[in-house]
Amino acid sequence: MSDRERRLRRSTWGHPRARALLAAGGAALLGATALLGAAGAALGHGPDPSLGGRLWAQDQAVGYAWKSGQAPPAWMASAIDAAAADASLTRAARAATFSRVTGGTSVIAYGEPTGCSAAGIACFDRAAAPASFKMWFRAQGFSFDWGALRWCQGLSVIANGCFDAETVALDEFGHVEVLGHHANNPDDSDYDQAVVQAVSHARPAVGWNARALAPCDTARLQLEYDRRTWSALFSTCLAVPTAVTATASATSVYVGSSVRFTASLRTTAATSNRALTSDPISNRVVRLQRRTVGTTAWTTVATMTASTTTEGSYAITISPTATYEWRASFTPSGEGLVASGSAAMKVTVSGCTGTGCPSRPIP
Ligand SMILES: [Zn+2]
Repeated sequence: MSDRERRLRRSTWGHPRARALLAAGGAALLGATALLGAAGAALGHGPDPSLGGRLWAQDQAVGYAWKSGQAPPAWMASAIDAAAADASLTRAARAATFSRVTGGTSVIAYGEPTGCSAAGIACFDRAAAPASFKMWFRAQGFSFDWGALRWCQGLSVIANGCFDAETVALDEFGHVEVLGHHANNPDDSDYDQAVVQAVSHARPAVGWNARALAPCDTARLQLEYDRRTWSALFSTCLAVPTAVTATASATSVYVGSSVRFTASLRTTAATSNRALTSDPISNRVVRLQRRTVGTTAWTTVATMTASTTTEGSYAITISPTATYEWRASFTPSGEGLVASGSAAMKVTVSGCTGTGCPSRPIP
């Protein structure tokens, strides 16, 4: 199976020709669904599927040039370059970055000939990754069976039904990274959760002029290329399981002496976490909790302090007043992680007599 995309784009603003195209699109989508099913595809709301094939190196700077004799007009060149910047800046992962450079080994072409299918207004080929890619855009006015292609940027007066060249190019750069088309909910209610879409929306339908990769695009990029830093947020299109491990500096102390609790927050080692497996998760809110021995409900005592030197590490020192069980607890907020807590740690507190206490642990 070639990596080359079979693309079909349609207007959704009620143009009479859109109906016939929609029927054709149904067939194209059916094929895509079957293809994704074979690859173990994602559900709606889930990360874009992976196209497979080789990845770029983490943060690889990929340079492209216009194909000789098929350089785009200035308005299209600007849109493609802007999309390359959009993809690079909003990838939220250590995926490749794209920019136009002199002598770039990757090639982008405008107008005929293209490598696109009959229905495609743009397409790509990433089979040579991580060495290079190819990308093609049909020319303004190209005649499809549904009518003449209109790129919004190439119109003297913008009009509904045009396709935004920057958005379409962003979809293509997403493919070049490794992204397959997002599997939307049946009612398309999550269309705005991905830019890499089997059906692009013409102006003014939702998502027609996206300028940034969306959560279900970056979710897949994070799964394949990892996050940019250990503090970076996880895409909200993910639900990555986490694990907290914790230790106490002592399990038995005198009243008045202190105990230091140290916790480590990571993603789990599950292979389904792919590149995110066992990643440290830094600078989150990790709480120290306690409960009376023999009970089940936990009470938060304090927020642990994030380490500035050890990634994913948190610590706090307290002076327990009685014997309790303790744990470190993580509840995510605004990102695609699953809550977790450490195993319980019992710290016995007892009275002290004689010199040396309260700082001397019970032997
Ligand atoms: Zn696409």
